[in-house]
Amino acid sequence: MVLTMSGGVLSVMEINEEDNSLDNTSFELLEAGGVLSKEAGTTISAAIIGRKASHHADNVARYVDRVYVVEHEALASFNPYLHLHALEKVLKLEGPSYILMGHTYKGVDIAARLAARLKAPLTTDCIGLELDPQTRLLKRRRQVYGGAVIATFIYQGEPQLVTLRPKVWRGRAEPRQVMGDIIQVDLDINSSASKLRVIERVKEEAVRLDDADVIVSGGRGLGGPDGFKELEKLRSALAKGFKKVEIGSSRPPVDKGWISSSRQVGLTGEKVSPMIYIAVGISGATQHIVGMEKSKLVVAINSDKGAPIFTMADIGAVGDYRQILPSFIKKLEELL
Ligand SMILES: Cc1cc2nc3c(=O)[nH]c(=O)nc-3n(C[C@H](O)[C@H](O)[C@H](O)COP(=O)(O)OP(=O)(O)OC[C@H]3O[C@@H](n4cnc5c(N)ncnc54)[C@H](O)[C@@H]3O)c2cc1C
Repeated sequence: MVLTMSGGVLSVMEINEEDNSLDNTSFELLEAGGVLSKEAGTTISAAIIGRKASHHADNVARYVDRVYVVEHEALASFNPYLHLHALEKVLKLEGPSYILMGHTYKGVDIAARLAARLKAPLTTDCIGLELDPQTRLLKRRRQVYGGAVIATFIYQGEPQLVTLRPKVWRGRAEPRQVMGDIIQVDLDINSSASKLRVIERVKEEAVRLDDADVIVSGGRGLGGPDGFKELEKLRSALAKGFKKVEIGSSRPPVDKGWISSSRQVGLTGEKVSPMIYIAVGISGATQHIVGMEKSKLVVAINSDKGAPIFTMADIGAVGDYRQILPSFIKKLEELL
């Protein structure tokens, strides 16, 4: 995507899905964006994306020159593809030179995707921002070496993209005398050009993984929701020999709507310590490992023999899970 830059600042608001409130981070982004727009002598705009986004339009318009509102039923729960698509629609209209997002689960996810799409320099988790008056580039301050040092990063290129650590800014932007313009943006998910599908969210379940004896977890490598049906067969076989056997997941299947988020294991999911953890089609990213590294025995099934999960697995099987699982299940049925 190529943008025509306006020189302005865009703060991307965040909505809490549970109660449709505007997250506190949003006010911090308005404050930081307001300071930056003054330093740069330019305008500030805001994007609100969500199922009831227009509910917040008047409030946010008190702090900015323009508010872009993208409202659609499909935005009720976080879907990175759809939220990115919505934000790109705003960017095409506004063409900001500076984009500020919250360093939150959603903000980081979208910012990373956006940086790749725009080939824009991104710094995450910033605790300070300053404009270089000569170059008009952002000086981005963030902690490095586990917080021992605060480093300043400067990158060429536009737009300048950052995520800001929550609670560093006070969230006390000054409301203005005159409200900014409110611009409604059509999400346009039905157009063939967008090539986007709305993901039907699976029903959320109240599941406890922390007391499971065995967890059979599936990742992106399952290839789709049907992969979890295969895992269910393995779960049933194991349930004959163990008290509590549950299905778990890495994050991609949750993001894709294949399985309930209550089954996600990892940094932003559950931390588990079962007797046996079976990872099927999971690569072994750090954010997943931190959630299951306390398992007593780890079994990994992966088609890539170089997958990082094998470095911490006690037992590994290299190959397509569709070929491995049937014989594995058969053996278990004989044994249990
Ligand atoms: C802030 C933040 C928080 C995060 N929190 C979490 C978290 O809580 N939990 C989490 O899991 N992730 C989390 N992530 C995401 C994490 O970084 C990884 O992207 C994610 O864990 C990768 O999931 P995966 O292993 O299922 O997918 P991939 O990394 O895409 O791996 C898929 C694997 O499947 C294998 N495969 C493909 N086809 C087959 C087949 N037919 N048979 C067998 N194997 C196959 C591939 O070889 C590959 O190794 C987070 C990321 C961020 C930025």
